[in-house]
Amino acid sequence: PSSKLPDIGSSIFTVMSSLAAEHKAINLSQGFPDFNCPEPLIQLVSKYMQAGFNQYAPMTGMPQLRHKISLKTDKMYGYCPNPETEVTVTSGATEALNAAITAVVKPGDEVVLLEPCYDSYAPVIRLCGGSPIYVPLALPNFSVDWDHVKRRISSRTRMIIINTPHNPTGAVMSKHDMDTLANLIEGTDILVLSDEVYEHMVFDGQQHYSVLQHPQLRERSFVVSSFGKTYHITGWKIGYAVAPAQLTSELRKMHQFITFSSPTPLQLAIADFMEEEKHYLELPNFYQAKRDLFAAQLKNTRFEFIPSAGTYFQLVKYDSITQEFDQDFAKRLTTETGVAAIPVSAFYHDKTDNKYLRFCFAKSEETLQAAGEKLAKV
Ligand code: PMP
Ligand code: GLN
Repeated sequence: PSSKLPDIGSSIFTVMSSLAAEHKAINLSQGFPDFNCPEPLIQLVSKYMQAGFNQYAPMTGMPQLRHKISLKTDKMYGYCPNPETEVTVTSGATEALNAAITAVVKPGDEVVLLEPCYDSYAPVIRLCGGSPIYVPLALPNFSVDWDHVKRRISSRTRMIIINTPHNPTGAVMSKHDMDTLANLIEGTDILVLSDEVYEHMVFDGQQHYSVLQHPQLRERSFVVSSFGKTYHITGWKIGYAVAPAQLTSELRKMHQFITFSSPTPLQLAIADFMEEEKHYLELPNFYQAKRDLFAAQLKNTRFEFIPSAGTYFQLVKYDSITQEFDQDFAKRLTTETGVAAIPVSAFYHDKTDNKYLRFCFAKSEETLQAAGEKLAKV
């Protein structure tokens, strides 16, 4: 039978992490911490498993966790979604994104994507019979060119997907961006899917601006986040979606048949752990220190960069070193220098190559230092 996604192979994250493992390179490619999650989280999972919480969770998520998500949203963004009708726990942000897209995109619909963008959006749009409409972020800062977005909106536009803080560039959207977006779609029935998985990683005293803070936007948006990023547990695959009741009801129909529900003891452990706000309130400083340590290492190299404003990724420009295609350079850096990174062209549908690599700095000091020493030799 013919493939439904003939042009899709293994993701760049799988490719680069495998190459790093094969060549014993320091892996700063795929985004995940190389340090363990907090010990109390592990004990909480164990406690709930021992106590017998090992059967299906409710389809929408454990009530305790949905309640905590609502409280956190209220505390952070001044908006308290109804945990019964507006919050859904999913198996990672990946599932929430999939469920949101499949809930609303019909054959012939168009969905605007701002490139470079995360790899999981476009394939799901296509599987729904929709068309991704690509708008490039504007160099050098990867800001949104809203006039360009406006020109690509048509009567077929069903949704716009945004991601702030942004993977892979580290750019963050401002309130002005959100106001502009709200004005752009006022009077249409265009929906917004806002991927905010790095919401707690914004640096230099800046604040994350969530779609949930914006009354006009949140009434037509799905907002997605992930505990994997916030609590250093990417392998647990627990995320969530916040959306108005009507949209949530449609999203849950999809979630019900993708995974039905997510692991019970993990949800209960996270709900308890959320009691202490300090864990996410401390995250900006925690990652800013890592960003700065890695930046200090990069200063000894020939790579050029602007410090990341958010996420745990740092983009570097390498065109003063070589003119090679970024995917070739990333492979050579892994096999010859011993440091793996993600080539940013992988985030463009047409492999646009602006000579950028993405490094993940969610790593121990030793790892970042060792990587810096190797990169200084390039
Ligand atoms: N969106 C973005 C922008 C991401 O970087 C990631 C994690 N790589 C995800 C979604 C997926 O998150 P999760 O691991 O919770 O599925
Ligand atoms: N979100 C991670 C990244 O950007 C990768 C997750 C995955 O491998 N699918 O590196």
